Amino acid sequence: MPFAWKTLRGVATLIALCMTAALAAAEPIEVLWLGHSTFRITSATGKVIVIDPFLKTNPRTPAKYKDLAALGKVDLILVTHGHRDHIYDVSELAKLTGAQVIASYELSKNLVVAGLLDAAKTPVGMNKGGTMSPLGPGIKIHMVPASHSSSVDMVEMNRPEWKGARLLDGGAAVGYVVELENGFRIYHTGDTDVFGDMALIGRRLKPDLALVCIGGYFTMDPEGAAFAMREYIKPKQVIPMHFGTFPVINRTPAELKAALGNSPIKVIEAKPGEPLRF
Ligand SMILES: [Zn+2]
Repeated sequence: MPFAWKTLRGVATLIALCMTAALAAAEPIEVLWLGHSTFRITSATGKVIVIDPFLKTNPRTPAKYKDLAALGKVDLILVTHGHRDHIYDVSELAKLTGAQVIASYELSKNLVVAGLLDAAKTPVGMNKGGTMSPLGPGIKIHMVPASHSSSVDMVEMNRPEWKGARLLDGGAAVGYVVELENGFRIYHTGDTDVFGDMALIGRRLKPDLALVCIGGYFTMDPEGAAFAMREYIKPKQVIPMHFGTFPVINRTPAELKAALGNSPIKVIEAKPGEPLRF
């Protein structure tokens, strides 16, 4: 009875699809801040994305996560730019987990040239305006502009075996909007000043949650971040980052709250190592 079998198989596939969709709807998204700009995002279907891995020498990272194996499975690593406080552990984490790495075009090439990433598992070099779905069609990674600089300092990366130039081209500094299976959108600003084209990120990609640098000195301070969120990005919620790691980036989430005044944008004060669910 081929027809009956076909129908039965069709029904079974439909049930499986519904169950996957229900699971995706039921499972929350987990966002784990690990200090500075390092985040681990776990999607509703269990895909794990790490942004800017800086753990072992990050003063704000909980002791448990200085052992990179504590991160567990990692499917994808996103890198915003080449400075040490954003890529220090990218090499080891990629090797340990087999995760694919996305970075700007020049940075991804130079990480291979410098021996920090495996040429056999070439990282993906994309550029601003690009969108990729390396984890399947359900998750979209949008690379967006940031107003910052980028280089890789091989002395700061503690690579004495490297005999090439000390400073490598890190390409353009970027941010990311991660669009998850259920449409929830997370914007990681990277390191940046406020810039007018943030308005386009807000209008086109409509982030629900923004992970926002507020420390000042190298990036936006709380007043700049509040302006960017209120006027341009307009997310529902923000998690402040890139503050309190080093003495010079000494601004605080309380100052961001104050600068946002009566804006409806909610400031979530994440604690490194304590997962948040959305
Ligand atoms: Zn930085």
